[in-house]
Amino acid sequence: MRERLYRVQAIILKRTDAGEADRLLTVLTPDLGKLRVNAKGARKPASRKSGYVELFSHVEFLLARGHQVDVVTQVDTRDAFSPLRENLERMGYAYYFAELMDRFAEEGTENHALFELLRTALGWLGETDAPILLARFFELRLLHHVGYRPQLFECVNCAKPVEPIENYFSVEAGGVLDPECTLNRREQIAGHARDAEPISLTALKILRYLQTREWETVRGLKLRANELAEVETILLRYITHHLERQLKSVEFLWELKSLRS
Ligand SMILES: [Zn+2]
Repeated sequence: MRERLYRVQAIILKRTDAGEADRLLTVLTPDLGKLRVNAKGARKPASRKSGYVELFSHVEFLLARGHQVDVVTQVDTRDAFSPLRENLERMGYAYYFAELMDRFAEEGTENHALFELLRTALGWLGETDAPILLARFFELRLLHHVGYRPQLFECVNCAKPVEPIENYFSVEAGGVLDPECTLNRREQIAGHARDAEPISLTALKILRYLQTREWETVRGLKLRANELAEVETILLRYITHHLERQLKSVEFLWELKSLRS
């Protein structure tokens, strides 16, 4: 028999108002994947709960099983990630990380690695002066943990190790294609790699570095704006292809960038 009350660790991804005073929360948990819970009365001014269900905070919930969604009966905050709340750009990236998790994480599926990735990334986001680099690192780790790791070391068509020259990248084929396959063997490639576009050797090296190193190493990387832009474009194409739709928070981040330039 299932217990009526149970405890979960959770990070708040999204809040939606419901009814007179309730808030539906979409959260990420280590054991149950993505989960929707009801924070009853969270919007009442006097509610002691409201302050504790801040977006992106890491909490421990005591939940009661409900008919449709389970109900929050108690909240303890583990980490509010306060440093990232003082800065609009960092908050923008926190929204982006949460939106990616909301889209990629599955309901009811255990994924400890995904939870740990979000928890640690929100901590780093509060400290780093390179949130753009962190976002690219986060994207590659996320893709790995949800089974969409792009192939960057061998040609996705012929499996030969990729040479240090200008190659091609195909989101449809799932990674790097060498010039020989892209130009002469298109009929063998998934979707005939109609979307294949050249990838510079520098961008390929950066992607490999981000994919295989820890953040402690990656954080020291100094990249030019054009190098970051190429890597960002490739990853965003890859992610939106797999999600089959656009991400809302990306527009916000682009608006922030255009305000600064
Ligand atoms: Zn090939």
